[in-house]
Amino acid sequence: MPSAHCYLCIYKEPAPNYTVGSSYNPLGSCNNCSAFACDYHGYRLSIGSFECRLCDSSLPAASAAHLALESQSSVVGLSFEELDLRQEIIEALLILYHPNTIFFYVRNLRAFLELRPDINDDFGNFREKYEIQWKENPDSQKLRRVIESFPDDAQDLIYVAIVLYNQLQFTAPLPGILKRISNAIIFRRRNQ
Ligand SMILES: [Zn+2]
Ligand SMILES: [Zn+2]
Repeated sequence: MPSAHCYLCIYKEPAPNYTVGSSYNPLGSCNNCSAFACDYHGYRLSIGSFECRLCDSSLPAASAAHLALESQSSVVGLSFEELDLRQEIIEALLILYHPNTIFFYVRNLRAFLELRPDINDDFGNFREKYEIQWKENPDSQKLRRVIESFPDDAQDLIYVAIVLYNQLQFTAPLPGILKRISNAIIFRRRNQ
């Protein structure tokens, strides 16, 4: 076994196959969270930075917040309480990605998938593949009003971030804000 280990292999996140290297054996450290990751649990974005699968959802989530901030002045129809929640969600999403470095973001799902061609087959035509249904309880409906005040591109990025996040079995350090939104939604994969 190597002297440095892949963070997600250590925590037994399933890794069905390796094209390079072997389990535990890190290829790099994550540009976002600094954890070591193996070939399966890390990915080199097409712009060159290496990121771990724990951070898969961080770039789309933070990008969504950036788009929401840009459109802040055109938001109508939210109560003061919902505006506060909107701000809280934006701040929580923003810090998921590159909190200590220069912030860069994608403007839509297509731009994200250009950085991540490995998942293009799963998330291209996202809205055709997934049905998004918000739960009926009051908290879910409050979150819904806030998230639906985000631009459409931002909403898609958040939904993809949540589906990516839910694909992981390792749950301990995952971001609370995505979990809260995730708990308010039922994603159904449409029949292909
Ligand atoms: Zn690994
Ligand atoms: Zn990471």
